[in-house]
Amino acid sequence: MKVHIIGGGIIGLCSAYYLRKEGFEVEVIDQVRKGSASDGNAGMIVPSHFIPLAAPGVIAQGVRWMFKAKSPFYIKPRLSLELASWLWQFYRACDQKKVENAMPVLRDYHLLSKELYKELSTQPGFEFAFEEKGLMMLFKTPKVGHEEAETAEIAHSLGMEARVLDATGVSKVETGTRTDVLGGVYYPGDAHLYPNQLVIQLETWLRDNGVAFHCNSGVKGLLASNGKISGILTQNGETIACDHVVIAAGVWSAGLLGPLGVNCLLQDGKGYSYTLPALNQRPAVPTILTEARVAVTPMGQDLRIGGTLEISHLSNKISRPRFEAIAEALPAYYPDIQPEMPALQNVWHGFRPCSPDGLPYLGRSKKYSNLVVATGHAMMGLSLGPATGKVVSELIRQQQPSIDVRLFEVERF
Ligand SMILES: Cc1cc2nc3c(=O)[nH]c(=O)nc-3n(C[C@H](O)[C@H](O)[C@H](O)COP(=O)(O)OP(=O)(O)OC[C@H]3O[C@@H](n4cnc5c(N)ncnc54)[C@H](O)[C@@H]3O)c2cc1C
Repeated sequence: MKVHIIGGGIIGLCSAYYLRKEGFEVEVIDQVRKGSASDGNAGMIVPSHFIPLAAPGVIAQGVRWMFKAKSPFYIKPRLSLELASWLWQFYRACDQKKVENAMPVLRDYHLLSKELYKELSTQPGFEFAFEEKGLMMLFKTPKVGHEEAETAEIAHSLGMEARVLDATGVSKVETGTRTDVLGGVYYPGDAHLYPNQLVIQLETWLRDNGVAFHCNSGVKGLLASNGKISGILTQNGETIACDHVVIAAGVWSAGLLGPLGVNCLLQDGKGYSYTLPALNQRPAVPTILTEARVAVTPMGQDLRIGGTLEISHLSNKISRPRFEAIAEALPAYYPDIQPEMPALQNVWHGFRPCSPDGLPYLGRSKKYSNLVVATGHAMMGLSLGPATGKVVSELIRQQQPSIDVRLFEVERF
């Protein structure tokens, strides 16, 4: 039985890995598009991120940010029915009850993924700087400190460890460099890795273990008949016959699903990062600089800084003010790290595939019995990669998924 996976980002590669391990013949089709999010991201594995993007309070904050050139969030205004229905569903999802229902499910999803990463990191051929050093949420203002302490309380109620620290407490955990903060919340259960190494090693393992890669042409569309996907049409005019299809094409998945009558709402959450090689000193612990919404991750010998969420309609243009805001946050929180502003050509960008309710789409389509969709992981796709891949293989095998996927239904909007 053959499975075709459309998209070779972290979700497609992890799906291929678990399917191949179960003995399936697998082919990955990838168009290699600029803006794939899976290598330049912040590499954080985050059980602490159990609150979905769409949550009460987010809209008011988002509207305030829209008017600031250096803010970490922006929606490029445009007349679009697709954007309007995404925003409407986002508004509907910012509901306390919906968020409460999602929290334990997301916690379990991340925890499973972390265990799978741990296991993968011990396999021959894999050395992707996986480390379990936790995650620090640093803050400079009492208001944000209060919000973070509230989140820590919720984490406790979900059975997760979260330590609320003052500045002295922070300096005992963050031993790599001095911080200029009011305090922090430390989540010891989080982990991190070097995503560029991970994706290369996954692809190498897959090729060595018989997975075919079809990279010379992307997918133009899918052919369907009698409630099944019957063929994959490539951009160079080829039609590939198929048994099972997995759509894991990140933000581009919506464009493949729409013509099939599957309304998969997705917007691009464009983000930026840059990587500093071997500094004299650097943070020891991965960190979110909370007011600035900037992620800082030590990766091997390097340090990666990333942030911003810009709904840009897949624009590859880099906003200098927003990118400068990311770079300026670093010395504001770590006064002994004063790197030069990186040149624009060294700035990476990627499109996070964002669903309106901040939850992934993971499941078998109701319309097409041989179609599985795995996308919409927004800011958590790296973290949730292996658990997603495992669930994809379970869905194809008609087995009970290892996590509860009911909230992730593909046709939920
Ligand atoms: C700045 C930044 C920091 C981040 N930090 C983190 C983090 O610390 N932790 C975390 O968990 N997540 C993080 N993320 C989010 C994470 O990177 C994404 O959720 C994840 O990479 C999405 O993976 P994907 O495989 O779904 O999509 P992608 O990586 O975008 O892959 C989709 C693939 O599909 C291919 N494709 C598209 N269209 C077609 C087509 N028609 N035919 C064939 N192939 C096609 C593309 O070429 C691409 O390779 C971050 C994102 C950004 C931008």
